[in-house]
Amino acid sequence: MALYRLIYVSQAVAGLEYPDLVKILEKSELNNKKVGITGMLSFGDSMFLQVLEGSRRVISQTYNRILLDPRHVNAELIDFSEIEHRDFGAWSMKVVQLGNQAGIRDIILKYSSSETFSPISMTGKQSLNFLRELTELYQRGTTS
Ligand code: FAD
Repeated sequence: MALYRLIYVSQAVAGLEYPDLVKILEKSELNNKKVGITGMLSFGDSMFLQVLEGSRRVISQTYNRILLDPRHVNAELIDFSEIEHRDFGAWSMKVVQLGNQAGIRDIILKYSSSETFSPISMTGKQSLNFLRELTELYQRGTTS
């Protein structure tokens, strides 16, 4: 079956905190597992960058639902592509809060003009490579 990848960026509403992220993670894991979506959601400096992988239909349905969520605004699509295989298949959704964990700021700087997480300025390729490197960091277990 054809597989697709969608990457978007959005801005968290003021006051969004860690417990909100946990709720988003719990709901995403539950829903995504049911429909075969995998991916990663990174959050830092009030910005979200998320990648979703799966069939075109379920990605479209999920993205349409996410766009209606009042916990974020100004969503902007970065990439929608047909893919050969999944890069984030280990997780129905992994949420990463970008803080001062070892290695994180280095990866941000590698794909940005400063250490501030500003995914809105990234190209599709940069955002994908950024998320891939985050995945490697977490799979190596050098951060949690
Ligand atoms: P319910 O959980 O029953 O929610 C019903 C309605 O209430 C929805 O409109 C929902 O948006 C809203 N709602 C629920 N909780 C809150 C809350 N705490 N504050 C405000 N409104 C709320 N969902 C996925 O399934 N997969 C994902 O990968 C995913 N990623 C997300 C990424 C981001 C950045 C955000 C902000 C949300 C994400 N969500 C994701 C959640 C998604 O937006 C929907 O809330 C969720 O899919 C709705 O699930 P449900 O149909 O079971 O409805």
